[in-house]
Amino acid sequence: MTINHQARKRFGQNFLVDQQIISQIVSAVGPKPEDNLIEIGPGMAAITEHLVELCPSMSVLELDRDLVEFLDEKFSQYPNFTIHSGDALKTDFAEFYQGNELRLVGNLPYNISTPLLFHLLSVRHMIKDMHFMLQREVVDRLGAAPGTKAYGRLSVMIQYHCRVMPLIPVPPESFRPAPKVQSAVVRLKPHKTMPCVAEDELLLSKIVAQSFQMRRKTLRNCLKPYAEHLTTVSEVIDMGRRPEQLSVKDFVTLSNHINQSIHASETVIK
Ligand code: SAH
Repeated sequence: MTINHQARKRFGQNFLVDQQIISQIVSAVGPKPEDNLIEIGPGMAAITEHLVELCPSMSVLELDRDLVEFLDEKFSQYPNFTIHSGDALKTDFAEFYQGNELRLVGNLPYNISTPLLFHLLSVRHMIKDMHFMLQREVVDRLGAAPGTKAYGRLSVMIQYHCRVMPLIPVPPESFRPAPKVQSAVVRLKPHKTMPCVAEDELLLSKIVAQSFQMRRKTLRNCLKPYAEHLTTVSEVIDMGRRPEQLSVKDFVTLSNHINQSIHASETVIK
């Protein structure tokens, strides 16, 4: 079955046409019949039609209603294939869980990729793994090591929650229409056991965001708003370093130190 669908820019539609890349994605995912597999943005089913052969009970989530109609017809012979019509950013993924960890797949519109990653991290304990096609530059940032140019807020926050594995580089010619940028497929696996635990995750994300606002300055300068909680910090972290030199673990140590100090001062006030 085919469809005469005009790619819509506002839905970030760049359809995969490269069969070799498609089969590499499908083998990287390696779907099993019992998986709780969900594809975000199936589009014209370039990846879906292969996934469904291996996992007939998979679900898809698509924003474009015309495509929902097309998918409904195309997969009508799969009784357990479920189509959800809606916006991934507004979807409560916990509803998909039902005791079986989610495996998420998507060639995502690049304009929603970062907010969607953060949205998904809020249910990370229900997720087994994620395979996403993203802008190559974003994949580089996700996996970046401390001290490199690509290392920043996104690297720290994603690596705090997940193991990042860049898998497949994908050139613009693999899509119709071709995007202006290079792409790459990345696998993200939420940690089963957290390598380091922030006592207050919201505080960690604030500290990390604040630190990278001025990445050329020293930590002490970046974190001036927290100065009153940093009087004894040099026992745990060298504040003369630049934020990009700190590992994820260092940021967690720093955040926990500030958290302790905030709680200690609250106790005094009481
Ligand atoms: N997976 C297909 C299509 C990729 S294009 C392929 O590889 O060929 C991106 C797809 O995401 C489109 O189908 C688009 O309609 C859909 N989409 C865009 N924004 C979305 C959102 N917020 N939630 C769910 N799907 C979305």
